Amino acid sequence: MNTNKKTLKKKPIIIAGPCAAESREQIEIAIREAKKRKIDFLRVTLWKPRTKPGFDGLGEDGLPLLVDVVNAGLNPALEVITPEHAKMVIDTVLHLLKKDGKLLLWIGSRNQNHIIQKEIARIASQDQRIYLMVKNQPWASEEHWEGIIGHVLSGGISKKNLINCHRGFMPNGHNPLGLRNVPDFTMAMKIKEKTKIPILFDPSHTGGIVENVLKMAQEAARYAFDGIMVEVHHNPKVALTDAKQQLTWKQFDKLLKQNPN
Ligand code: PEP
Ligand code: MN
Repeated sequence: MNTNKKTLKKKPIIIAGPCAAESREQIEIAIREAKKRKIDFLRVTLWKPRTKPGFDGLGEDGLPLLVDVVNAGLNPALEVITPEHAKMVIDTVLHLLKKDGKLLLWIGSRNQNHIIQKEIARIASQDQRIYLMVKNQPWASEEHWEGIIGHVLSGGISKKNLINCHRGFMPNGHNPLGLRNVPDFTMAMKIKEKTKIPILFDPSHTGGIVENVLKMAQEAARYAFDGIMVEVHHNPKVALTDAKQQLTWKQFDKLLKQNPN
């Protein structure tokens, strides 16, 4: 049996929204578009790891936007870089969540300090409505990727509240499409098999440009991913981060249509 084939019958998990929260107006539009499409989680990232100094997110000033998202009946999803971020987000959101509401925090690819990973997991484990997602590290190593999962589990997060995400690895040699990060679908499926943790695919940070984002999503649809995380902006041209790879909501619809699950 080819374990790489799609086997999952469950509804895929969809996380969509801007690379970074930039303004109340932008998030209001994102809320409207996300609600129309009934997506599971809206990306509302407040803290952005950046290669060079630049806009690195609204930070604490953006916390009220999380309240807007929850009050609109959507589930917020965002990266937390430090345990303090996780605490601030939880303090802002948890008391507003309905019984079936969810909060998704994730540890980004560049955040490879296991003490921080473990502590964020410990903080996230306080309520069953909090989900923790981990993205693979930038360099291709199955051992390290499994290690991240080990670290967060040792922080006390339950497997049923844990999600994995493949965002590709830094290019090293063969890269004919000029991808931003090159996926290793075989490794991703092996990790899923070994850890028994659902795994999403991130076509945005693999693709790097819109055309490749759509191609990556199509490729990934051949494998047993449990969902996707996609960057979507109402006007990517003016986006403050990752402008080249963010889809419009129309392009996002195209991506979903080309990958019916
Ligand atoms: C992100 O998803 O916002 C991000 C920064 O991606 P990565 O951590 O995979 O580079
Ligand atoms: Mn981004």
